Amino acid sequence: MNAEIITIGDELLIGMTIDTNSAWMGTELTNIGFNVYQITSISDNKEHILKAIDESFSRSELVLVTGGLGPTSDDITKETIAEYFDAELVMDKEIYSNIEKMLRVRGLEMNENNRRQALVPDKCLVLQNSRGTAPGMLFERSGHILVSMPGVPYEMKHIMENHVIPYIKNYFNREAIVYRLIMTYGTFEARLAEILSEFEAELPPNLSIAYLPTAGVIKLRITAMGNDEKTLYAEIDRQIDKLNLIIPQYIFGHDGDTLESVIGDQLKKSRKSVSTAESCTGGNVARMITSVPGSSAYFTGSVIAYDNRIKIDELKVDRKAIDTDGAVSEIVAKQMADGIRKKFRTDYGIATTGIAGPDGGSDEKPVGTVWIAISSAKGIMAVKYQFGPTRNNNIRRSSLAALNMLREQIINNQ
Ligand code: AMP
Ligand code: MG
Repeated sequence: MNAEIITIGDELLIGMTIDTNSAWMGTELTNIGFNVYQITSISDNKEHILKAIDESFSRSELVLVTGGLGPTSDDITKETIAEYFDAELVMDKEIYSNIEKMLRVRGLEMNENNRRQALVPDKCLVLQNSRGTAPGMLFERSGHILVSMPGVPYEMKHIMENHVIPYIKNYFNREAIVYRLIMTYGTFEARLAEILSEFEAELPPNLSIAYLPTAGVIKLRITAMGNDEKTLYAEIDRQIDKLNLIIPQYIFGHDGDTLESVIGDQLKKSRKSVSTAESCTGGNVARMITSVPGSSAYFTGSVIAYDNRIKIDELKVDRKAIDTDGAVSEIVAKQMADGIRKKFRTDYGIATTGIAGPDGGSDEKPVGTVWIAISSAKGIMAVKYQFGPTRNNNIRRSSLAALNMLREQIINNQ
């Protein structure tokens, strides 16, 4: 079943407002099993609006429209859609008193523009909006539905969650659609797709897999369609068992898991603690660890050892090691990890030292060279990574690599 989204507003086209409505609605529609066929952004222009809704409405079973319902004269969506559906605008008493109430709370009087907002097309289902003055409007014609909603994101979400989603689920009598996410780290999308080509070919016809890559972490989404949710989840779990045999080295979690939440669980369960000594990541590893609620149970603190003096004074890194091997080296990373573990008396110490860029690279150590070390009672290990030229990416990738190294180290130490 196809769905389309039309966002209306001059501000979207000139880049003043980012179209977050489409992204949110696209996610929601996908989650309930629609195929989002097209997203269109257009200006507050009558001809454009008529053309866009006509194209979308004749092509797709569901069309969601946002924007252009405000009280000012540039907002013309309601009049235009009413014209498209040959509808008259009539006063809606409930909306009128809702607007009156909202204005009274703010100490304002009703004016002509507000009164205009209480007019609705006579051929629509009015979707009350308790968060704002403009209601949503739902039109039905030959098995197709068009919904017009205000552009203000929290008003749109309110109308979607309370009216539109329940209505369209019922109207289109959708099959159950469920999905689970499998979180992977340590490879890239094309390689993963190659490894999983046979797995993919063997999936039952009502199941599908999608690759959702972000920098460093690739989520695999397995979606199942059918009549009974419980059976569908069981089918997905059978496929996850298969994946656990094919790519165990890459899977670190499921659904809402992140590397930082997974290491948090590991540390809590094993009653171990961690601290970080960060050069090139500038505290980002600590930030990620502490983004998890309850991290105070296992995270003690961090030294951002950016300057060599701090590496030497605070972490007891050997000055000679820096002179001979450089600050970005195996020995310095190891000494930093061990130094922080001892200084903060934790079970694990993580260290990062690298060249985040864009400057500071050399032939021997180009931008993106990063050493990461983990110290524990079982010893100190370090790995050299070669990331890319972009500073932010290098910081993120170094942080993920550090967290993943810790995750593997904790498993090995068990
Ligand atoms: P409107 O319904 O056109 O009066 O829109 C009201 C406000 O909602 C605009 O000023 C924008 O700040 C915001 N807005 C409109 N469309 C979008 C959109 N597609 N995504 C995010 N915000 C939006
Ligand atoms: Mg507008």
